[in-house]
Amino acid sequence: MPVYDAIIVGAGFSGLYQLHQLRDQLGLNVLVIEAGDDVGGTWYWNRYPGARCDSESHYYSYSFSKALQQEWRWSERYPEHSEIRRYLGHVADRFDLRRNIRLNTRVTAARWDDAGNAWRIDTDSHGSLTATFFITAVGCLSAANIPQIPGLDAFAGQWVHTGRWPQAGVDFTGKRVGLIGTGSTGIQAAPVIAAQAAHLTVFQRTANYSIPSRNRPLGDEEWHAIQESYDAIREKARASTNGHPFDVSETSALDVDPEERARRYERAWETGGLRFRATFSDLLKNLDANATASDFIRGKIAGIVRDPVTAAALTPLDHPFASKRPPIDTNYFETFNRDNVALVDLKAAPIERIEAGGIRTADRLYELDIIVFATGFDALTGPLLALNISGADGHGLRDDWAAGPRSYLGLQTPHYPNMFTITGPGSPSVLTNMPVAIEQHTQWITACIAHMRAQGLHRIETTEAEAEAWVAHVNEAAHATLLPLANSSWYLGANVPGKPRVFMPYAGGMAHYAGICDDVARDGYRGFTLSHAVQTG
Ligand code: NAP
Repeated sequence: MPVYDAIIVGAGFSGLYQLHQLRDQLGLNVLVIEAGDDVGGTWYWNRYPGARCDSESHYYSYSFSKALQQEWRWSERYPEHSEIRRYLGHVADRFDLRRNIRLNTRVTAARWDDAGNAWRIDTDSHGSLTATFFITAVGCLSAANIPQIPGLDAFAGQWVHTGRWPQAGVDFTGKRVGLIGTGSTGIQAAPVIAAQAAHLTVFQRTANYSIPSRNRPLGDEEWHAIQESYDAIREKARASTNGHPFDVSETSALDVDPEERARRYERAWETGGLRFRATFSDLLKNLDANATASDFIRGKIAGIVRDPVTAAALTPLDHPFASKRPPIDTNYFETFNRDNVALVDLKAAPIERIEAGGIRTADRLYELDIIVFATGFDALTGPLLALNISGADGHGLRDDWAAGPRSYLGLQTPHYPNMFTITGPGSPSVLTNMPVAIEQHTQWITACIAHMRAQGLHRIETTEAEAEAWVAHVNEAAHATLLPLANSSWYLGANVPGKPRVFMPYAGGMAHYAGICDDVARDGYRGFTLSHAVQTG
């Protein structure tokens, strides 16, 4: 008999809530394994200067407990990393979750044992454990992508990746800092590092769009209004395409005259944040409509950045706005007006190597004391493949996903019975406000396991045919949008050399996806085979 009913990997938003449900609603014997020395998931690792969520704090939070949502007071429009860690620590304490979490423990392998109808999970510090259900709550953006630039070992200074930020912090005072990467992370970090360092050099490969976040403290009045309308806010988030509780305009960008369009973009720019994408109905679907937004932002960059050469280099030309995940910022473009900040355009002169003294491009050596890699993640599949998962009949996930991830609903992969993936590839995950996707997934998994227990069933698996049909649907949903048009996007795996180029998240919309999952459950878990024990033949 397996020792645990369920083992969950990861103690971030998803692992904590999944534990709470399985243990406190179903009465299961559950263990969470977590590599970090505290709960927090993404927010445990991402402590770089400026790290802040781009969903607004009051809805980047759990909705399952009204008491929790009323008692936790967020301090700013967008929560800073440390505030999110405090929140998740509070959740762990409030629901007494810590006693079922094993910290400082890394999964080294997970193997399905067909005869035992159980998962055997090897860890680096607590031996091998067994469980009936194996649930990955490892996050989508947790495997750091550190580019293989020759010479890094020879660098005489300090180097860090933003997704593995030292708990003690990094002191930039008086230092010459090089920052590689201008995605959401680099764009958040640059202004904060520039304010402390003697000099900051930003190494940019692809210019990016960014919208001002307009972060601000949440005043009492605003907070009370949120508290009073929380039910409606949650309802709206769940009914939306992307898990955000704001309205998406029903007007096409091409159906208003240029003056009215400019007025609406101006208003959205002043409001700030990801809702800029919602200014018109078709910014993510129609290239001509999108061009109006892309041009508006290019105009803003030209207006903010004083040096015309720097402004031109910062202007994104190779992809439509929001086809890559759009960053939001606090004074990013303004940072390039500082005397102690320089931009290096790697398209003009690529990095050749790192030397003891700094970074050498095709042009020259940039002397540095600290290099910050804001180079992103091996997204979605990376954290799962790192678990070294092998399934039934000699299947291994690395081989099975060699040409791209394959799953049914993003929840289960054929040949891996009793394994569930929370917000994995093939689910809306990163295209949404994550807690909404996480609550939907974990609640679905909990209901599924409850159903199995009520029926005396011990095994659930899906088929190749279901995975094939779902992967085709994921592909079709992506191609109904402009999202596949960004060549270097991590949605496509294009940021990691050698990774298959497959659009991984499900772009069909959060509410639509949740409806499909509900229908599947109502139809007796259509597409899954539920059985008493080992399948034969
Ligand atoms: P990212 O979007 O993948 O950006 C990585 C950056 O590093 C890109 O500019 C990339 O250039 C550059 N890069 C990668 N390898 C390089 C190399 N060998 N040489 C030079 N440049 C290189 O990663 P991220 O900024 O960490 O963001 C990842 C995701 O995390 C975001 O999209 C978002 O979903 C999430 N995130 C959210 C927040 C938030 O809530 N506010 C904050 C941070 C991150 P190319 O574009 O040319 O590949």
